[in-house]
Amino acid sequence: MTMPAPSRPVTPSVTLSDIREAAHRIGPHVTRTPLRLSPFLSKHIGHTVRLKLETMQDTGAFKLRGATNALMQLSDDARSRGVLAVSTGNHGRGVAHAAKSLGIPCVVYMSELVPDVKVRAIRDLGADVVIHGRSQDEAEVAAMARITEDRLTYIHPFDQAAVIAEQSTLGLEIIEDMPDIANLIVPLSGGGLLAGTALAVKTLRPDVHVVGVTMDRGAAMIASMQAGKPVPVEEVESLADSLGGGIGSDNVLTLTMCQHLTDETLLLSEPEIAAAMRTLFFEDRIVAEGGGAVGVGTLMSGKLNLHPGPTAIVISGCNVDMNVFLSILASIES
Ligand SMILES: *Cc1c(COP(=O)(O)O)cnc(C)c1O
Repeated sequence: MTMPAPSRPVTPSVTLSDIREAAHRIGPHVTRTPLRLSPFLSKHIGHTVRLKLETMQDTGAFKLRGATNALMQLSDDARSRGVLAVSTGNHGRGVAHAAKSLGIPCVVYMSELVPDVKVRAIRDLGADVVIHGRSQDEAEVAAMARITEDRLTYIHPFDQAAVIAEQSTLGLEIIEDMPDIANLIVPLSGGGLLAGTALAVKTLRPDVHVVGVTMDRGAAMIASMQAGKPVPVEEVESLADSLGGGIGSDNVLTLTMCQHLTDETLLLSEPEIAAAMRTLFFEDRIVAEGGGAVGVGTLMSGKLNLHPGPTAIVISGCNVDMNVFLSILASIES
């Protein structure tokens, strides 16, 4: 669907110079991921399609970028007290990884919906893991009490300038590797990934057509963009578990940024997400989690109003339970 034109003027609280500074700061701590050609998808749509492989980022998802930037900016005092993250898995892992390399104590709150594979990876990084509640929102309530009690610093998964600035470095890398980009397709949940990547890309190439894509179960940001204010949604199990959770009733940055930066949105069903995961694996030999693969599903759907020209798709993460992944590969219905 095409988004209504935003009524408010663009007032980016994250600027291109913030992004360049962030890129410089965290450069040595993250991997510059490849933008790899997909011959199959290119043939499918008749224009070049390249995949930004954050599946190859350390920790297996782009969230390490924002987490690293946020932690590197903390005062010595805040570092010694420690940090806390509430996570659907990948943010917690990014924060735990960055905290470990910077020697900062780290607590991660997650709900029971988070797959075991993600919980284990975070424990292995030495973080104090607390599983609480049936949803990301319930885990968050418990986490806030812990923050006050232990005077920890909260590291937001998306609605924080330092986090968004750093997800934007991904957009800078895309422009460097695909200067003639016409379309950018990004998985969308809390909106930090889309806000950051699209801000960098549109600041340098204002005409790029930006598509936000998510699952049709509990699409909080898209519902909020349509309502013009944060809308709570029910969180249910999905193959795209990393796209679950609300945008926060007190959202300050990503809702406005996503409204201004998104030209089109699309919702995918569970079978469409599974089909996208299979396509990525069988055609491009890429293992992606459901939330990471949704961009491919948009091209398979044929429903987008793409501009003629090259398309970049962010493949945002690969942290899928292998038993789940194998059963998806084995199932032929799509
Ligand atoms: C967190 C996450 C997203 C969504 O990012 P937001 O900034 O919350 O929109 C997409 N894909 C993966 C793999 C993620 O972990």
